[in-house]
Amino acid sequence: MPESYDYLIVGAGFAGSVLAERLAEGSGKTCLMVDRREHIAGNAYDRTDEAGILIHAYGPHYFRTNSDKVVDYLSRFTKWHHVTYQVLVWTGGKYWQFPINLNTFEEYLGRASSTEEMEATLAKWRVPISQPKNSEEMVLSQVGREFYEMFFRNYTTKQWRRDPSQLDAAVCGRIPVRTDRDNRFVTEKFQALPQDGYTAMFERILKHPRITLRLKTDYREARAQVKYRHLIYTGMIDEFYDFTEGRLPYRSMRFEAETFQREFFQPAMQVNYPNDFDYTRVVEIKHATGQKSPVTTIVREYPEDFGPGKEAYYPIPAPDTKVLYQKYAERAEREKQVTFVGRLATYRYYNMDQVVAMALTEYDKLRTAV
Ligand code: FAD
Ligand code: UDP
Repeated sequence: MPESYDYLIVGAGFAGSVLAERLAEGSGKTCLMVDRREHIAGNAYDRTDEAGILIHAYGPHYFRTNSDKVVDYLSRFTKWHHVTYQVLVWTGGKYWQFPINLNTFEEYLGRASSTEEMEATLAKWRVPISQPKNSEEMVLSQVGREFYEMFFRNYTTKQWRRDPSQLDAAVCGRIPVRTDRDNRFVTEKFQALPQDGYTAMFERILKHPRITLRLKTDYREARAQVKYRHLIYTGMIDEFYDFTEGRLPYRSMRFEAETFQREFFQPAMQVNYPNDFDYTRVVEIKHATGQKSPVTTIVREYPEDFGPGKEAYYPIPAPDTKVLYQKYAERAEREKQVTFVGRLATYRYYNMDQVVAMALTEYDKLRTAV
């Protein structure tokens, strides 16, 4: 007799793990969770490296949210280390405050200024576009060409291997523009990292007698081995359908860590390099975790094309990809025994809190359907 479960859950990231916990604890269901990687936590995975430094293995994961519901839920599994995320840009041989604000403007002028002067200047620089249709128009309409060229055009091209004009406005629209002295990277009311790290938080989420976890196991392998009533799928939706509608594009990334025998490497948690080097940013997460150590580890991020042997880190938000995704979404709609949830399965450039909220909503649907 093959093993039998209520749910087969593919992917041990936020989407799959939240659903496994809810179904097991909230509805008494048995869940088999598989992930083809050798660890839990998906892209939020963090680990202590050889130098004893806690690093984010797949790029920086700055948890932030305005949702009390999401904070309340995750707080069952972690305490929090509150932090204000700070990012600098390196260009023209010096550091700049980022996102663009009055301090950045003063750095540009080389003298003291005011909100009034910045607003008056931006009013002249802005390209009048009432409804920006893409990322180039978005930035031009907010700050004009000078800052677009300094901070956005090359970073975006490096990151996505697409011109900003070929990406949805929301991509560069993630980055705010301010005319006060607020240097914070994001403004959500809750900004904090899990106190013992993401992986420790996921261990607690998944520690349940009705959740069976199998790592280094692909969906196809699991599907052939066990019986289940319902499938929760958090991988790439085009892969699920054997690419029959065509391949959705993704961006991949190479993360290179380096340890230095000194307390800090750079002046902030994250430095972006729009116009220098092949990497987009250097992250020294120790600034944010608050870990005390005489040594430090940084991670450089090199954007790469997605292909065999590579992870799909980013869906590419653009009109052409939306058309293709829609074909898969229509097929997904018709599935009765499969729930698609998470960043790859719904092809959405979502942050962690949005994925948690999505998983909680899906749980409510499954709970009431049973
Ligand atoms: P994932 O974490 O990708 O989990 C999916 C899992 O499914 C993976 O572990 C994968 O191995 C597994 N899987 C896929 N297919 C199969 C299969 N066929 N068989 C078995 N297993 C399979 N969000 C923020 O809120 N703040 C940030 O600062 C932030 N920074 C980010 C930086 C980078 C570089 C990246 C890539 C993302 C960042 N995010 C950030 C987004 C965050 O990572 C996601 O929102 C979140 O992790 C998505 O969770 P998920 O469960 O949907 O997907
Ligand atoms: N971006 C940019 N310059 C920067 C930072 C961001 O042009 O210095 C653009 C770029 O297109 C990037 C997008 O804004 O992909 C969103 O940036 P964010 O830091 O939110 O990206 P993520 O952390 O998701 O990789």
